[in-house]
Amino acid sequence: MDFQAQIQQYRQTLEEWNHRYYDLDAPVVSDYEYDMLLRKLEQLEQEHPELITPDSPTQRVGGQALDAFRQVRHEVPLQSLQDVFEPSELAAFFQRVGQQVQSPAWVLEPKVDGLSVALEYEDGVFVRGATRGDGQVGEDVTENLRTVRSIPLRLEGAPRRLIVRGECYMARTVFQHLNARREEEGKPLMANPRNAAAGSLRQLDPRIAARRRLDCVIFNIQLIDGPSFETDSAALDYLASLGFPVIEHPVFRREEEVSAWIARLGEERERYPFEIDGAVVKLDSLAGRALLGETAKFPRWAAAWKYPPEQKETVVQDIVIQVGRTGVLTPKAVVAPVRLAGTTVTNATLHNQDFIAERDIRIGDTVIVQKAGEIIPQVVSVVAGKRPDGAVPYQFPQACPVCGAPVRRDEDGAAIRCTGAECPAQLARTITHFASRSAMDIEGLGPAVVQSLLEEGLIRSAADLYTLDPQRVAQLDGMGERSAAKLQAALEASKSRGLARLLTAFGIRQVGEKAAQTLSRTFQTLDALMQAGEEELTAVEDVGAITARSLTEWFAAPQSQHLIAALRAAGVSFASREAPRGDALAGKTFVLTGTLERYSRAEAKRLLEAQGAKVAGSVSKKTSYVVAGEAAGSKLTRAQALGIPILSEEELTALLEQET
Ligand code: AMP
Repeated sequence: MDFQAQIQQYRQTLEEWNHRYYDLDAPVVSDYEYDMLLRKLEQLEQEHPELITPDSPTQRVGGQALDAFRQVRHEVPLQSLQDVFEPSELAAFFQRVGQQVQSPAWVLEPKVDGLSVALEYEDGVFVRGATRGDGQVGEDVTENLRTVRSIPLRLEGAPRRLIVRGECYMARTVFQHLNARREEEGKPLMANPRNAAAGSLRQLDPRIAARRRLDCVIFNIQLIDGPSFETDSAALDYLASLGFPVIEHPVFRREEEVSAWIARLGEERERYPFEIDGAVVKLDSLAGRALLGETAKFPRWAAAWKYPPEQKETVVQDIVIQVGRTGVLTPKAVVAPVRLAGTTVTNATLHNQDFIAERDIRIGDTVIVQKAGEIIPQVVSVVAGKRPDGAVPYQFPQACPVCGAPVRRDEDGAAIRCTGAECPAQLARTITHFASRSAMDIEGLGPAVVQSLLEEGLIRSAADLYTLDPQRVAQLDGMGERSAAKLQAALEASKSRGLARLLTAFGIRQVGEKAAQTLSRTFQTLDALMQAGEEELTAVEDVGAITARSLTEWFAAPQSQHLIAALRAAGVSFASREAPRGDALAGKTFVLTGTLERYSRAEAKRLLEAQGAKVAGSVSKKTSYVVAGEAAGSKLTRAQALGIPILSEEELTALLEQET
């Protein structure tokens, strides 16, 4: 590949990673991997400076402000840090600074892997807080930051104005609890504490942000209208005296001491409550900093030593599949136990089918695993030379390992999903959906009640709902006689909701409320719908080949048939409440005149007739409506004379689409 194409490819990859990281809060690679690729791009661009464009990922600092929050222009930009990955790079940094500053002293700080924020105080009162955004413009997240307990809202004896910079983070333990809860609720898990923190700070509802229990550490004075300092360490001590949670910041003069501290922090980083992705080395003298100045992106007086995620070799003993509550099949590698970043690792995530296929991971393979900010270790790559003879490519299962139903790949993603209507792995979600407002609308049957019904073994699928014993329901935690009776009544009422809602309740992929209504109107009964072939289904408006296939597969599954039989026995209505299309305009006579935009004459005629209307060629007293298009002629005049209602094209369209 020539260098131009190479640059292009790196940029594309980085942009994609950026988008996933900043905008979707769902990173796909570790930061270290990102930094390494960015570094490669930087090097190529340096060799070919004529190819640098302003939109290259190397030219920007970080995320872009989202629209949902008000934007704030930072009075003092929130800069990035120059990375160093190797001792030689650190030595070069010391040398560069040493050329301008005599016997420098160094402040050392853990590089907290969170979200950078600027906090502004007026007369000691916290007035504004913003995210870094692109360094110049960030998002105003004041209300959310107010909920962070470690941020002081009022300072004693503070200067008139003060802006400090710090890092917001989610403590590891909080992160673990959050994910455990999300798992219980069937919500997607957060990738790592930093993304969880970022997501929490950008919550539009501060109450949600508050529940996320973020923390903050402060590491810089951005602006102060008050005392001045000679060194950064003195400034930080001052902030601590005002009541800020200040980052630890030992000062060293000898370079060996700096290196030793960096190495020790690397070994001990598991002991901190927050994730640490590096060590920051900063010149302590503020006069020295002013002398050195900065580049467009970062100060010349600081460097960030980045720790590579610890990696180890191990052997894949097995690949197992877990089925989540949303029915997604997630592969996991069972690996020979290995010590990694302070814990013993016995399994690693394989994400999805594509991840395995792209890396060709096989059972028996020796692989590199790492923990990179994420709590769950991941498989990085296969050690090609160590593949045992006879290792075969991994075949992703075609059937759900929990219930045996066929699996299907999402049209819009890499996820493989179980299609089983009664798959135990997804029961809670399926049943909650069945009872939800847009489906069978069973009041009082929310996620918590569904969960306890399942746990107590009172139901095994939605089919069991209608044979529930109210007395046993009354004994459930938090239920009682009254609630049980209410639930019983709600269940009874739901039996007559009709076919459209029932179809929605089934949760068949691709069949949403609208499609369910159309199907209900067209087929009128569940039995007629079940008998329809794919061809007949695709003839229905809004039903494409994928939906048709989804329907026939769903009806063919034994679990679905069991569910339908149980509902039938319980007396749930399978009949449509939507009048069939054919009758809607029965007995009405239409006359068309002029040119219509959306339909040809023939088409309009066909559509009207399909709903039982008659279409006549001339206007008489018997005409119900005249549809007047562009340049309507004598028929319109006659209709007006006879006082016959005139419909515009829009009105005709509305009539044709009307739900009767
Ligand atoms: P990077 O994102 O790799 O360019 O690194 C710069 C980021 O490190 C800053 O935006 C800060 O959010 C973060 N950071 C974390 N801890 C510190 C620290 N002690 N000093 C300076 N920056 C820090």
